[in-house]
Amino acid sequence: MTSQRARDRLIDRLRQHGIGDERVLAVMAQVPRHLFVDEALSSRAYEDTALPIGHGQTISQPYVVARMTAAAIGVSGTPDKVLEIGTGCGYQTAVLAELAERVYSLERIGALLDGARSRVRRLGCSNVVFREGDGYAGWQDEAPFDAILVAAAPLDVPVALKEQLAIGGRLVIPAGHREGQSLLLIRRQAHGFTEETLDRVRFVPLV
Ligand code: SAH
Repeated sequence: MTSQRARDRLIDRLRQHGIGDERVLAVMAQVPRHLFVDEALSSRAYEDTALPIGHGQTISQPYVVARMTAAAIGVSGTPDKVLEIGTGCGYQTAVLAELAERVYSLERIGALLDGARSRVRRLGCSNVVFREGDGYAGWQDEAPFDAILVAAAPLDVPVALKEQLAIGGRLVIPAGHREGQSLLLIRRQAHGFTEETLDRVRFVPLV
């Protein structure tokens, strides 16, 4: 249930559902998602579904992680600096750590952050910095970022996050009311921003 075969089946399923970025699929075939959920749920870790991680939060659905990661890194290869908002259990963090030079991960619930930090460290990722704090403000001291990935939905896209994008940078963020959120890809260009809707989604609120 938690074997390489189970992970490979999940990857096949993601591919069937339209995930075509082989770099993302290769990383997700390696990162052990079962180590990011409670032991009682580990047999379900390779189903393509969100699962509870405590504190009223959930680990994102693998399809959504794949979609957001591919959108955040784009076609051009390895982003240098990535900001993640909503660390949760740290699974998305571990995936990003394999694809970016440095990951900055922000979470408001200290207990979740501690768990994520120890899991990510145990997997040997040394290019992640964690911080407890409010995602609405981003991480000004480390801006600009080549990519920002937000795992919880505000009603409107926080201006601070757009401002912390590098020119050419990509912000992937769900936004809207709980029943009708859109997953957006916002790109910063030399003179302004472009915005594209990727999917209809359902995230926990950014609070
Ligand atoms: N990628 C995570 C998603 C967890 S759910 C995973 O797969 O485990 C979203 C997370 O966003 C929750 O952990 C929640 O505590 C966090 N969050 C919500 N509002 C936030 C805010 N304003 N600042 C930082 N983190 C926030």
